[in-house]
Amino acid sequence: MSKKSFLVVGGCGFLGRFIVESLLNKGETNVHVFDIRKSFEDDRVTFHIGDIRKQEDLEKACKGITTVFHTASPTHGMGYDIYYSVNVVGTQKLVDACIASGVKQLVYTSSSSVVFNGSDIAGGDETMPYVKKHFDPYNKTKELGEKEVIKAHGSGLLVCALRPAGIFGPREVQGWPQFLNAAKEGKNKFMFGSGDNLCDWTYIDNVVHAHILAAEHMTPESNVSGNIYFITNDEPIPF
Ligand code: NAD
Repeated sequence: MSKKSFLVVGGCGFLGRFIVESLLNKGETNVHVFDIRKSFEDDRVTFHIGDIRKQEDLEKACKGITTVFHTASPTHGMGYDIYYSVNVVGTQKLVDACIASGVKQLVYTSSSSVVFNGSDIAGGDETMPYVKKHFDPYNKTKELGEKEVIKAHGSGLLVCALRPAGIFGPREVQGWPQFLNAAKEGKNKFMFGSGDNLCDWTYIDNVVHAHILAAEHMTPESNVSGNIYFITNDEPIPF
């Protein structure tokens, strides 16, 4: 157990809740969740129900916190305005609230899709530039959100961004259950390319581990703050 206090923004979502559980399993006793909805009960967790787009909600939740994990984002298939308001404006407000409340570290969950324009990527690394034309509004706003976070490097708040590709594991509802249902209903009777396509899916535990490592190693003495890291299992899997 450490003297740290943790706030998981988006902590009622798929990834956020696993981060919460990992912190609790490590013996942390000061674990908070900030989310627009409440999806589970746990007496060991302090819940702050609020909207990341509201400064006053964030400032209340950030009080006394040392480490913030920011995993909140609207679900798939929404329009640009909602992605922009949550992923960019909301992230900007969270950074401001962290600085105002004296939070020490902010770990942002970005996405590898910020460098994806539909063309194949093999062996890509963090030196890849953002794409000029994004595939969809989600990807564009994840780039802008990431920039809001990294911009705060040097302000006293330690910041980094993690970029998983697809995440899979128990309780996941937006990806694999839908692929499997489509298959069960006989809806996937066509194939893109030769069938040898690879796609990077990372197991939830590995993504959680990356977040915990980022927080553990992002100290004023380390060179973690200000950086962005791709997160992957190891090898891409056939898709
Ligand atoms: P999720 O939808 O399960 O969780 C997101 C949470 O954010 C939800 O609980 C939701 O209620 C909350 N939220 C949304 N809008 C909010 C608002 N205005 N204020 C407060 N809370 C709000 O998503 P997830 O799959 O757990 O993804 C977590 C993060 O990881 C996201 O930032 C996403 O962009 C990123 N990511 C996910 C994947 C994936 O495959 N799931 C891949 C790459 C990156």
